[in-house]
Amino acid sequence: MTWRVRRMRNAGENLPDYIGRITEFFEGVDGRRYFACRWFFRPQDTVISNTKLFKDHTHDPKRVFLSDERNDNDLDCIVSKVKIIQVDPKLDQEAKAQVAADADLYFDMSYTVPYSTFENITLDINENSGISFDAEANSESDAAATKATILDLYSGCGGMSTGLCLGAVIAGLQIETRWAVDLNTNAWESFKYNHPITEVRNEKVEDFLLLLQEWSVLCDKYIHKHNDDASASPLKVGGEEHELGKGKLVIDKLTAICYGGAKREKCIYFKGDVDVLCGGPPCQGLSGNNRHRKCDKPLDDDKNRQIVTFMDIVSFLKPKYVLMENVADILKLNGGSVGRYALSRLVALNYQSRMGLMVAGCYGLPQFRMRMFLWGALPTMVLPKYPLPTHDVVVHGGAPSAFSVSNDETADETMYSVKAETEFQRYIRLSRKEMLDYSFGDNKGPSEGMLLDHRPLKLNKDDYERVKQIPHQKGANFRNLTGVKVGQDNVAYMDPTVKPPCLESGKPLVPYYALSFMHGKSLKPFGRLWWDETVPTVFTRAEPHNQIILHPDQARVLTVRENARLQGFPDYYRMYGPIKERYMQVGNAVAVPVARALGYALAQAFQRKTEGNNNLMIVLPGSFSDVAMMRVRARASSSGAEAAAKELEGASYLSSSGNN
Ligand code: SAH
Repeated sequence: MTWRVRRMRNAGENLPDYIGRITEFFEGVDGRRYFACRWFFRPQDTVISNTKLFKDHTHDPKRVFLSDERNDNDLDCIVSKVKIIQVDPKLDQEAKAQVAADADLYFDMSYTVPYSTFENITLDINENSGISFDAEANSESDAAATKATILDLYSGCGGMSTGLCLGAVIAGLQIETRWAVDLNTNAWESFKYNHPITEVRNEKVEDFLLLLQEWSVLCDKYIHKHNDDASASPLKVGGEEHELGKGKLVIDKLTAICYGGAKREKCIYFKGDVDVLCGGPPCQGLSGNNRHRKCDKPLDDDKNRQIVTFMDIVSFLKPKYVLMENVADILKLNGGSVGRYALSRLVALNYQSRMGLMVAGCYGLPQFRMRMFLWGALPTMVLPKYPLPTHDVVVHGGAPSAFSVSNDETADETMYSVKAETEFQRYIRLSRKEMLDYSFGDNKGPSEGMLLDHRPLKLNKDDYERVKQIPHQKGANFRNLTGVKVGQDNVAYMDPTVKPPCLESGKPLVPYYALSFMHGKSLKPFGRLWWDETVPTVFTRAEPHNQIILHPDQARVLTVRENARLQGFPDYYRMYGPIKERYMQVGNAVAVPVARALGYALAQAFQRKTEGNNNLMIVLPGSFSDVAMMRVRARASSSGAEAAAKELEGASYLSSSGNN
């Protein structure tokens, strides 16, 4: 029994009524009559909010979502009865419309307010829903799945897909990064080196989308099962039209497509389906550091349009799973409209969806780094859950190892100078094989065994002189330089009673930009990190002028490798390109351990292990990042299945709680 209920709050003439399912009528102790109600949500009543903002897609006006929100209301609020039926989420739009033809509204998914989640409903099935039982056939094939493919868009050097694969394999799903796209040639090169079996495309994602569209037009036009179709249009080859006479068309299925002229060798082979589409569309238009952002219409900003392109590709390829990452500001700027847009697109495309924030520090890194992650899953699949943190975010006393590196170190490869002392060092130094990294195909690939990219951005002579004068103490920064005073208003200024000290070059020791940054209130210019600190976030630049990036007791900024470790990249992961580009790739990446935790959650969903499990989060196994267990797993993966099972069983006592 479903009743439409008059809007009680924010009542407006043009706003539609609320809709709810009445679960009980009762009389209160005050003698008044009430009803208890479980609410349905229209898309605009959910976190998606104002659907009118998004012109390039619409929601079916008949579609609502069943929530678990319940409360009691005055009987007077009831306006009228409406007919709402439940519809199988797996039906296509046309079939849904048919099933719901004589109903006022229909629902096919639930909506959970606190987790911004749209998901299949496992209970509440009624007779008219058109829900069939082929779901079971699906379950079996996916439950048995041990392999899957990823397309990584805006792939950068590969933090996201690398982590996803590393995590999934622990849950028994081997994901192969089959395709990746990035326009930056250095990032492309890094990706290629670390993933030689991936088809890595060095182009704009929007061009890649055009290519896909072009390809589909070709498919529609020329793929015919039988070759007697006289209406086939002429095929254009090299600009010339070739009439395909009766009986001439022999293409049965397009399996490969080339892009560009004969000189470009890059080819795209979409021989399999994309199981997982992941990506971090760039977000410069959104970043809190960007003062020129368009606050009122963020989707009009070219730098945010990539999210539209990303969703267009989802719409085109219809992968089983989608994972989109972005800065947390996507949920803040302009009322979070870009984040709402992304979620709205997925829901309108009939994906189950879940949106949330994750903090890298919670997965074992001395870096805070909060990012938004949005999951999407086809209605035939199980929507992944978020993995619960394994670590407290504030780390005290965990001292990173001190390697003495000079400001002008330029070697890309050096030897490890000390043995790994901490669990983190042992973990991050694991070889490709031990990490269960299949990017080179079948657990192969060089195991490096060297310290890569442990070189800093070389400071210029002036900055080097300045940095040498910053004391080796917690919290030190430019304010510790000679001549700097701090007023009661916490504004730094130069002592007017002494002559401002100069560098050898004649330039001031304390540069004006340091004194004026954040109106003199910032502690960041030439700031030193300290051993027991967690960095807020790893940035894409390495200049010490407006961020805390100096090594605790050396006269240099953090090296590319130190940043890579803060981001959880295994030590064997190599970056390519000029040094500034390497910092950029590392700073842009999804922290590998976060993606790894998500990969585990993805694999569990893919194999339907979390189906029907009502917990909103999953717990990662205690042995998830345990070095001894990782080594055992690696050995087990190369021995037979029986030996593996035995070894894993025997080793389980080694696993730690993971909570440190
Ligand atoms: N997810 C990646 C990092 C992505 S950073 C990781 O985890 O490592 C965003 C990337 O998008 C950058 O590498 C940038 O070169 C790329 N990019 C920006 N605009 C693009 C476009 N229009 N097409 C393709 N790549 C683009």
